[in-house]
Amino acid sequence: MKTLLTNCRIVNPFSSPEFIENGYILIENGIVEVIKEGIPNFTVDEKIDLNGKTVLPGMINAHAHLYSTLAMGMPFPKGNPTNFTEILEQVWWILDRALDRESTKASFEAGLLDHLRHGVTTVIDHHSSQNYIDGSLNLLAETAKQFGMNISGAFEMTDRNGKQTFQNSLDENITFHREFIEYKSVRPLIGLHASFTLSDESLKSISDRLKSERDWGIHIHTAEDKADRTDSKSRGYNSVIHRLDSFDLLNENSLVIHGVHFEPGDVDILKRTGAMLVHNPSSNANNRVGMTPTALIEEMQAGLGTDGMQGNMLEEAKIGTLIRSSHLVGGEPSVNYAEMLFKHNADIATKLFGRKIGKLDQGYAADLAVFDYNPRTEFNADNWIGHALFGMEAPIDVMTNGIFRVRNNSLIDLDEKSILTNANKQANILWNNMEETDG
Ligand SMILES: [Zn+2]
Repeated sequence: MKTLLTNCRIVNPFSSPEFIENGYILIENGIVEVIKEGIPNFTVDEKIDLNGKTVLPGMINAHAHLYSTLAMGMPFPKGNPTNFTEILEQVWWILDRALDRESTKASFEAGLLDHLRHGVTTVIDHHSSQNYIDGSLNLLAETAKQFGMNISGAFEMTDRNGKQTFQNSLDENITFHREFIEYKSVRPLIGLHASFTLSDESLKSISDRLKSERDWGIHIHTAEDKADRTDSKSRGYNSVIHRLDSFDLLNENSLVIHGVHFEPGDVDILKRTGAMLVHNPSSNANNRVGMTPTALIEEMQAGLGTDGMQGNMLEEAKIGTLIRSSHLVGGEPSVNYAEMLFKHNADIATKLFGRKIGKLDQGYAADLAVFDYNPRTEFNADNWIGHALFGMEAPIDVMTNGIFRVRNNSLIDLDEKSILTNANKQANILWNNMEETDG
């Protein structure tokens, strides 16, 4: 099937050219060609006139928690948490124990819908449903397939719910890894909650299990709060990263999340092992844990994630810009959040999935988002970042792997209304379960 998209304003960030006012995109099992000028006269199966609408690459969320999708509007915890550990204990560790299969499925569906609706076609998820473990990652992969999206799955291993739960979580990660490692649109990773909720014994048993696996990588929160760093030091390590490296858990497929409180020397370990860093500005601000240093983000070419806060990556890039700006005095260098979103996330997804994802270039997956955007000022190669972050909202069409999943603002093949109705129902059940779990 050859499809030609015509009359497109093409924004292809950090590529060449970055901006085409009126171009064509030829698709056949991926992007075959992006044509800058002239009218192509070859035969295609389908020609779609986009009438000057703006096309961006399908975006990537480099760190998501779809399991927290139904937390929106949830009652505030009774204990009024005042620090990072209390927020985990009183909110997220109650929620992830209260999730069953049905509420997990509703969370996946509503969360993926939120991403797709915002032109995000690849989600690197970190999952936790501590009383529904076996088969939860398969459910994630199945649900993502229904949406036509690329998914990376990992199950959060932790010691906080006892040895058997830890063991079941390790089994779930390994089973999922073995079943899906060859899949084109699924990328298994091995999920660890964080260093401070895993004993040396647990880290060793993970490391031992991985010795016989291939192409594995871990996905873990690192030094999000000072508490994580303090914990590693109290166990005799220089830092969280040093501790993970001591168990041979870091490699070129591994994602380390946050890095707000790294120690000197951590970057050297990450560079040596090839592990990748992902920054999540809105979550860091929300949890009041501090801000990932600018120099670290630049040195590590960090990716951008939302840590469960939302599915809208353009919004995350905008919020990230504003949060950092509010902490800087005039003239201080900031971070280019558009570069994190469009360049570094594309590099991370391309590496993890083993195929080209995240650009509108020849050979890349045909994942794209079409915006019906009428700018009030000139839109050109020099100012696309301003329009993308501060002007464009939700796309009208979204394509993944060459197939429209959203067309003229409607979901194709899936019933959006029933997904949302079910999510509402499951959210109420979940919140009640949480109250019971909470006592
Ligand atoms: Zn997270």
